[in-house]
Amino acid sequence: MIEGRCLCGAVRITAARFNGEVSVCHCAMCRRWGGGIMAGFVAPADAVTVSGEVGRYASSDFSERAFCPRCGSSLWMRDHGGDYELSPGLFDGAADFPLVREVYADQAHRFAGFSGDHPRITRAEYEQTHPHVEGDA
Ligand SMILES: [Zn+2]
Ligand SMILES: [Zn+2]
Repeated sequence: MIEGRCLCGAVRITAARFNGEVSVCHCAMCRRWGGGIMAGFVAPADAVTVSGEVGRYASSDFSERAFCPRCGSSLWMRDHGGDYELSPGLFDGAADFPLVREVYADQAHRFAGFSGDHPRITRAEYEQTHPHVEGDA
């Protein structure tokens, strides 16, 4: 079980099960939404409990990005009916989660490169096998 909250505390999230590893995305939408990057760890939908009012933005035909309407904290990204990609910064217990991959690594702003030997997946590599939004850059 891991527990988190937004900046103002109006939204609280618990996840009974989660993968405990962080992926970072540098795509154009994630850069804007997250202030530079989006970081997320995965929790299955049936393991996540949310309290408080949540704003939802349909950032594509297949996914939503959720935020606190009061303080603006980025809460999660989720494909419809899929797993949650929860923002690790909301969860004190995520402090030691390892970074396991960067996606859209070739699109990263220079300040946002991460050290380590994790996979760095390019836009072209990612878009071969995943749903994506055309022309987002
Ligand atoms: Zn808030
Ligand atoms: Zn992205």
